[in-house]
Amino acid sequence: MAKTGSKTPASDDPPCTPPKPKKIPKAKRASGSLRKANLRRGAFLIEFQTPPAAVDVVQRELAVGVEKGPMLTGKDLQSARDQYRTMERKGFRVTKDIGCLIPDEQYCTYQQGHTVKGHQRTITFFAHWCPKQGSSAIRNEHGWPCNLQVSHLCHRRSCCRLDHLIVEEQWRNVKRNFCGSTGSCDCGNPIKCLRRYTSQDTAELPDFCLTEEEVSEVMVGAPTFVIHPPSRYENRDDKSKQRKLAKDKRKRNQELHEHKTARKQSRLAARSDVAVVTGEPVAESSDDFM
Ligand SMILES: [Zn+2]
Ligand SMILES: [Zn+2]
Repeated sequence: MAKTGSKTPASDDPPCTPPKPKKIPKAKRASGSLRKANLRRGAFLIEFQTPPAAVDVVQRELAVGVEKGPMLTGKDLQSARDQYRTMERKGFRVTKDIGCLIPDEQYCTYQQGHTVKGHQRTITFFAHWCPKQGSSAIRNEHGWPCNLQVSHLCHRRSCCRLDHLIVEEQWRNVKRNFCGSTGSCDCGNPIKCLRRYTSQDTAELPDFCLTEEEVSEVMVGAPTFVIHPPSRYENRDDKSKQRKLAKDKRKRNQELHEHKTARKQSRLAARSDVAVVTGEPVAESSDDFM
């Protein structure tokens, strides 16, 4: 009996169709290994105390029509705090000059991508809100842009130290970009810059603190914090490593199971095809051939 219908046995497949390469998802690096890399670069594990109340990051009256907030509460606030702590646990390098806190590079401003930047995490952690970027322009009576922005008083765009940050109108922020030709703040902002402005902080190679004593010295004036030993999160890392191993094992077992099932199904399908081609009745469909 000749085979009819459109079903083709597997052996008729063109022999040279290469199997589609399996898409390998980009491996997410474990926080433990990121932290270790940052510690090797000279980072310190500095943990700030959760502030008992929202800190005022504006420190002045705002122009009419310019508004703070809205303030995060409940779950949203908790998740903002968690986001900050995730960055914090990877450590900060601390500059020797004025104690700028430089986070792991994934949170630095010069990194592309959607990751919430370090200074935004810091502002939200301490102030419970952060100005949104890209909101429609508000202008004052002179036409100056008044949208709220986070300014770096230290002119290091990646710095995450709360007392180096201020939230202010865009025009004030822009004005800071021309400051300190004589060495001290001369941009006219009542809240003074901490350093002279130099363009492109990514090209700058500041000296970093090497000891905890040096860190404590330059951190005078910062919110309350502790410096943990480098081993601080090792237990946590071990646990997360074990969780990951167990997850990978479950995934492998699941894939093996699916693979076996697929093979079994294709064997069964092939058997029934052979039966159709040769005309031999197979048990399940023997009535068709009587
Ligand atoms: Zn700074
Ligand atoms: Zn200035």
